[in-house]
Amino acid sequence: MHINDVRKIAKKMSINTYHMGKAEIIRAIQRAEENPECFGTERVFVCGEMACLWRGDCIAYVKKKGVAWA
Ligand code: SF4
Repeated sequence: MHINDVRKIAKKMSINTYHMGKAEIIRAIQRAEENPECFGTERVFVCGEMACLWRGDCIAYVKKKGVAWA
């Protein structure tokens, strides 16, 4: 998802995204939704959340950052 679209979602939730990167914003959204702040973490290997709005970005982030299953 483009960062501008992520920011729009955050804005609707009254989350101040100033100086925040994409991953940080997504985790803030997850926190506001009272969901686990799991974006870009090793949880992606086991979460099974195939319908997660962030899944594509989450997988790309994990690959880019070299996050590995411990
Ligand atoms: S794909 Fe899984 S680990 Fe990644 S943000 Fe969604 S629920 Fe969290």
